[in-house]
Amino acid sequence: MSCLYCSKKSESFSRSVALGGEEYHHDFPIDDLVGNAIQVFSEIYRCSDCDSIWKIQSRGTGDPRSTYPEYYEQTATLLKGIEREAVVQPTLDNLLKLGEISMPYDFRTSVLDKLKEKEKQNLIRLYREQKPDLDSSIKFWLEKWYESIAPEEFRRFKEDGFHMGANSIYALPENSKIISSEFYTLEDFVIWVEEGEDGRSYLQSLNHKTGKAGWKTDLPAPFSGGMKLPVLFYQGGYLCTLHGLQMGSEHYSRLNRPDRLRVYSTDGELLLEEHLSWKAYEVISPEERDYSENRTVHNFRVTIWDDSLYLPSGHSLKAFDLKNKKEIINLSLPDGHIFSGKLQIDEDGKILAYTMKGFILFDAKWKILSSWKSPYHPVFMDSNMNVFYYYAHVENPRTHVVKEFQQKMESGVSLTHFLRTTPAPLPNGYFVPFAYDESYILNFDLEIVKKIPYTCTDTLGPHALDDKPEPTLVTENRLVFCEDYKQIRLFSLEGEEIRVSPSEVPFVNLFTFDGKNICFVQSNYTGYGVDDNYLLTLWNPEGQEINQVKLRSLEGFAVSFHGYLIFKYQSELLCIDLFKGI
Ligand SMILES: [Zn+2]
Repeated sequence: MSCLYCSKKSESFSRSVALGGEEYHHDFPIDDLVGNAIQVFSEIYRCSDCDSIWKIQSRGTGDPRSTYPEYYEQTATLLKGIEREAVVQPTLDNLLKLGEISMPYDFRTSVLDKLKEKEKQNLIRLYREQKPDLDSSIKFWLEKWYESIAPEEFRRFKEDGFHMGANSIYALPENSKIISSEFYTLEDFVIWVEEGEDGRSYLQSLNHKTGKAGWKTDLPAPFSGGMKLPVLFYQGGYLCTLHGLQMGSEHYSRLNRPDRLRVYSTDGELLLEEHLSWKAYEVISPEERDYSENRTVHNFRVTIWDDSLYLPSGHSLKAFDLKNKKEIINLSLPDGHIFSGKLQIDEDGKILAYTMKGFILFDAKWKILSSWKSPYHPVFMDSNMNVFYYYAHVENPRTHVVKEFQQKMESGVSLTHFLRTTPAPLPNGYFVPFAYDESYILNFDLEIVKKIPYTCTDTLGPHALDDKPEPTLVTENRLVFCEDYKQIRLFSLEGEEIRVSPSEVPFVNLFTFDGKNICFVQSNYTGYGVDDNYLLTLWNPEGQEINQVKLRSLEGFAVSFHGYLIFKYQSELLCIDLFKGI
């Protein structure tokens, strides 16, 4: 007998045997399918009579939950068209024509091994094109092979096109890493460095124009092991750092809290060190679940206003005068209110403190004028006293307006909308992104001004990934939002679309450094190698591209008001002028 094709014109065949006990393998014969078979590649055979090419594979199968396979199956497929062509004529061209067609797992790399001398120049060219859609086994093979035949050229190529226009402004000590960095003037910034094996930690001030080092001060270890908080931030003329760890839960790191807050002057003087008593818990009561879904509630923030620091401490609101370094107030809040850390003071000196479920309004002497507390956990509240919940309920305790936003489906059923991320305040209202690919622009009276048939990345839902960056941004005249693996969209504040840019990758960061221009960072993983690869894009408010920079590192990433980007790569601190050349 020759093969199933010459004997019976069959083009496919399969059979299986049941496995018993701990058996997980069965040897099937080949020669009753293709007699006098010539093996040309692993799992690929040629019939010496009719020249048919057969792919013959065996594998275990059955219930995927069982430890051992229940059956062993053999399948034979006659290869035709490009699959046959690639086997008979294994050229680079034919290999690439295969695209994503399934072949035995080492077929592509076996062909490449055969071609590496004959098609050397084409293979080098192919690698350097870094095409994203090649089969991953080809990408991996090319990467290893190129490195082995030309290590120096490979290294230069890997650096090529990255960090365009970067200047080194500061050399960091060996074995150091930057925890965080932050600008506090147009040119001055601090880096939080952790150095050496023992992790000595300090703040170092630097000037990006001169590269000159200024003050330096030792720090305790940073807060880590919880949710991703900015552990170094600048607010109201002061620099703040977060340290230590208070375990909130053995199993849920988002409930872990920092232990200490330090506040520094911009001259590096330590003004205050305060033990923190912050709150964090999950929404679990069934009634509250009608309003919020699987949300972590916490008050991890502080307000610095007019040289005073306001922070939550247990059930109290504490305030410190940073100029005179003394406590001004330690106020226990009524009705189970817990201060959120957010506070605003109006021109008459009236103080609006946001609590975790409501508001308290004080006069300038801290006498309570009014207060309101929701039975549920709001996702967002603002000084107009509009209160938004996850399941698209909105209410206003002052005007008593209550609304619930719904999506009318084609079938006639109305489904309650739910939020993808926190509503973004606009000068005349809010941008509210929902699921089901729909967002609203609302005015302050909670009336729908415009519906937008798109939405942004989910950061609030039960399936949202932890620590996603804020996917919405409002600048002085623009609204921007991004949706991972789909697009970034730019609108006027009235909701007219200006630009959409598709994106097949996740967004790492969306921000403005000057309130006008729009900057975003995307993960730029191509499947070649394991190096970090990010793409930073800068748009002007019209959505025109000002600059695009490829980055190998986001360590110590910060951008000044004038668009100077600093970051650490290897042991250098680099600086790029994002506006250079325009
Ligand atoms: Zn045959």
